[in-house]
Amino acid sequence: MPDEEFPWSEPEGDGDRSVVDCEACQSVIDDESDRTVSFLLLDHLTIPVRSCERHLERFSTICGLTTEGAARVLDHYPAGGVACPACRNARYDTSRPMVSVDGGMVVITACPDHQSQILQRFDSGLETHQQLTASLGGHDTL
Ligand SMILES: [Zn+2]
Ligand SMILES: [Zn+2]
Repeated sequence: MPDEEFPWSEPEGDGDRSVVDCEACQSVIDDESDRTVSFLLLDHLTIPVRSCERHLERFSTICGLTTEGAARVLDHYPAGGVACPACRNARYDTSRPMVSVDGGMVVITACPDHQSQILQRFDSGLETHQQLTASLGGHDTL
């Protein structure tokens, strides 16, 4: 492992937010060009996100647990575009929330509004997932 500094690390941020075990996630996050952006389609939302395929899949599955329709991930610019102008212009920067997903990392490059909306879904999706797995005898079957 190269001993490089993560550009988004807080000086005191020695905790859980800057650790990415997944090399694929790391390289997507390191690459700040537009081609590494994917789009999470959920309900009426189109959220620009960055992560590797596997962890995006995981993230969208968890987000989709609490919604009526299934979440989808596009690896190209959606045909209808991004409805929210603030999301469209949102750029990757170190203030974006990074979500730890099963050893990987998902960066949400959306406007603050939509960031919090998707994070809420993710949180309640995680809860639902935990309840589901608990009722199945504690096995992680996702
Ligand atoms: Zn990953
Ligand atoms: Zn937005």
